[in-house]
Amino acid sequence: MDKPVFRFAPSPNGELHLGHAFSALVGYGRACAGGGRFLVRIEDIDEGRARARYVAGILADLAWLGIAWEEPVVFQSRRLPAYRAASERLERMGLLYPCFATRAEVAAASCGRDPDGAPLYPGLYRGRAPDEIARRRAAGEPYALRLDMAAAIAAAVKLASCPLRFAELDEDGRSQMIEARPERWGDAVIVRKDAPASYHLAVVIDDAWQGVSHVTRGRDLYAATDLHRLLQVLLSLPAPVYHHHRLITDAAGRKLAKSARDTSLRSLRERGVTPMDVRRLVGLA
Ligand code: GLU
Repeated sequence: MDKPVFRFAPSPNGELHLGHAFSALVGYGRACAGGGRFLVRIEDIDEGRARARYVAGILADLAWLGIAWEEPVVFQSRRLPAYRAASERLERMGLLYPCFATRAEVAAASCGRDPDGAPLYPGLYRGRAPDEIARRRAAGEPYALRLDMAAAIAAAVKLASCPLRFAELDEDGRSQMIEARPERWGDAVIVRKDAPASYHLAVVIDDAWQGVSHVTRGRDLYAATDLHRLLQVLLSLPAPVYHHHRLITDAAGRKLAKSARDTSLRSLRERGVTPMDVRRLVGLA
């Protein structure tokens, strides 16, 4: 049987903090326990937020924690043609449409929230006449490509010939099949105005390309898995097993942010905290 493949996929938007340490240690721990492989992928396609200067620090923090990963580290910014090929495939399936709306227009017309709490897209540009789209494109108006969710779910159910589900492992490694409800995301953005993919498209393409069999990540991404499962079915990609772990919170119970300097691994290290202390702080020792 093939070895299980785990990964840690940080976005280089800031320094790693205790929450990332927990995520990486959980994934690495499971990889070691299961005789598996462990990969690192830098998710750096968000040009507005990703900074190359954080990458060396992220890798140094992981090494300091005692984590060993297989080389080479994959950078999403070097994988753009793969995302383009996938979005073109979805376009050929008739499942994407251009959306010229601004954030403010979406927020003003929206009537609900997606699972992340963002305004739910009200379908403003779904079903627009081809000549209007051609005219706007020719005029160079920026647009995102959105998934026609109803059509996508119908296509996926036909392809999978069963309801959409994914396997979720709990802390003790017990597996449960979870029903995916991607409709909660509305017509999600698949190709951003400012990047050749959305996180959702890039993550499913890369997990499949890297042969990731086990996705360990925080519960904040649990609902996104519904969308990921849908994209996997539409693009004929294998289904990894998921483990969405608990989140490390601050004293007030809030999820740690990249801006939370006091819990950055670098600042903890500088204050004499050891990797063993980090394990204790996140409840792993
Ligand atoms: N890059 C994402 C983050 O840093 C994680 C993506 C994932 O694990 O699927 O939050």
